[in-house]
Amino acid sequence: MQSSCVLRIMDRTQYDTIIVGGGTSGSVLAARLSEDAHRNVLLIERGGDHSSYDDKVLKAERVWDAAASRRFSRTRRMRFRGNFLRNNITVGHTLGGTSAINAMAAVRGQPEDYDAWSELGCEGWSWQDVLPVFKKLENDLDFQDTKLHSSKGPLPLRRWRPAEFSLAQHALYQGVQEMGVKVCDDVNDRSKLPGVGVFPGTTRSGTERVTVSLAYLTPEVRQRANLTIVTDCPVGKVEFGKGPQAKRVIGVRTQDDRLILGKEVIVSCGALGSPQLLLLSGVGPQEELARHQIPPVHDLPGVGRNMQEHVGTCLIYRGPYEEEMIGSPAKILWADDYDGNGDINFHISAAPVRSGPIIGTISAVPVYHMLPTTRGAVTLNRKNPHGFPDCDLNFLTHPQDLAALQKIVARVLEWEQTRAFKDWGAIRLFPRPTPNTLKKVKWAKQIKTISYFHAVGTCAMGSVDDSQAVLDSQCRVHGIEGLRVVDASSMPRIIRGNTYLCCTMFAERVAEFMNK
Ligand SMILES: Cc1cc2nc3c(=O)[nH]c(=O)nc-3n(C[C@H](O)[C@H](O)[C@H](O)COP(=O)(O)OP(=O)(O)OC[C@H]3O[C@@H](n4cnc5c(N)ncnc54)[C@H](O)[C@@H]3O)c2cc1C
Repeated sequence: MQSSCVLRIMDRTQYDTIIVGGGTSGSVLAARLSEDAHRNVLLIERGGDHSSYDDKVLKAERVWDAAASRRFSRTRRMRFRGNFLRNNITVGHTLGGTSAINAMAAVRGQPEDYDAWSELGCEGWSWQDVLPVFKKLENDLDFQDTKLHSSKGPLPLRRWRPAEFSLAQHALYQGVQEMGVKVCDDVNDRSKLPGVGVFPGTTRSGTERVTVSLAYLTPEVRQRANLTIVTDCPVGKVEFGKGPQAKRVIGVRTQDDRLILGKEVIVSCGALGSPQLLLLSGVGPQEELARHQIPPVHDLPGVGRNMQEHVGTCLIYRGPYEEEMIGSPAKILWADDYDGNGDINFHISAAPVRSGPIIGTISAVPVYHMLPTTRGAVTLNRKNPHGFPDCDLNFLTHPQDLAALQKIVARVLEWEQTRAFKDWGAIRLFPRPTPNTLKKVKWAKQIKTISYFHAVGTCAMGSVDDSQAVLDSQCRVHGIEGLRVVDASSMPRIIRGNTYLCCTMFAERVAEFMNK
């Protein structure tokens, strides 16, 4: 394949830092690392540049079109173990990565999640360490310059207004309050949860999407002489030296076989793409490298393992009226605890899916278990190692996860009894409202799981004594010199929140380590 990228890369340049993957994390790294004028940075992205963005990316109400678009995303339909339905696994494929196709919900996760990382030996990642970084990245348009928020960062955050809610969202917001759940004006303030509130979205006006790359890779940043951005250029592998330098990175090789030299390589290809690139480069579990006849560079059993994702299921309703779609479908967040001990272990929201004069409005009410027990894995595609990787989320293979989902669905059934739900006038289409449908046995048989699109952990940070850890606390690959992995895959444990703000923070934090 002849890619346009090679024409723009100076073959003999040796970059100080090569970032592979210009997605959510990679965009932040490129902007922050190139602030040091003495560091020559190359960012390589497999998808297109900002110039390829169209309304699917730029208009907030078209988020599902962006996720379904072959131009901006890659999707594979897979059947997971423990699942009775095929699920889509989708990732972004453009500058901005998955931030260009996601639902824009900007949630940090709980302070306890980061303290748990720190307890696992990830130094510098406690809540106290990361809170200033969450503030640094945001321009919060609703809570400016408070203990928790800031208006000085690059990424605009705005909470959806009641006038922008759909009827299902109004019914959820009001109905849950009838059930005694507190209203929370800031879902990123732990002291106000459990509660029902409004997602912050990465938008200034509610009508447009701001991708992480638009926020960070501004025209001024792109003019820096020490930053080169190359798009439409898939990288095929990381290259290492020879003999005594066999575990020292020397650069990357593009899929069309050009070697680009770099002193340090940062892989930011996402929770699926990063383990894939490490495996293709000979870094990973030796039995898997052998299966694909990849010459081994370093045996690291944790690469591709420890995959974590919020498991969910979805109830579908039909409301009586046609409605206009305004902004992202992710607006209302009910973040609560099915056991009553104050933990945040579930998310429930309501999202319009389709509307028309005859059908009225079809809405999904997805429920998610935020503390899943099961772990999955990403492996190389058996037919084509460079193709979309194989993965198995192992959903519901642990009985605790099924029990948790049943309890969370029971909360939705309580909501169906509220005045606000009845005033909405909707009927449930799925699961069909027969008396037995939601009883334990039947439910277990017919549950159809969905993912929250929050896969993490496949190149996890952890101490060198942990055989499954791939990275140290500054995201350097154990046993290799000059290689880091910085993105959703680096998280040791999934957070109890949506993952994209966390990826942005993650990259900011590693840039701080590197710029010290
Ligand atoms: C449909 C959908 C909706 C979502 N909604 C939300 C939401 O509302 N809120 C939220 O918090 N999270 C959401 N998420 C999840 C969130 O967006 C991701 O967790 C996060 O953006 C991942 O960031 P990342 O940096 O790890 O990877 P990405 O942003 O995916 O970046 C990886 C980049 O690497 C590039 N790449 C991959 N392989 C190569 C290669 N070999 N060579 C060169 N480049 C390569 C890719 O093209 C991509 O640009 C959603 C996800 C999806 C799919």
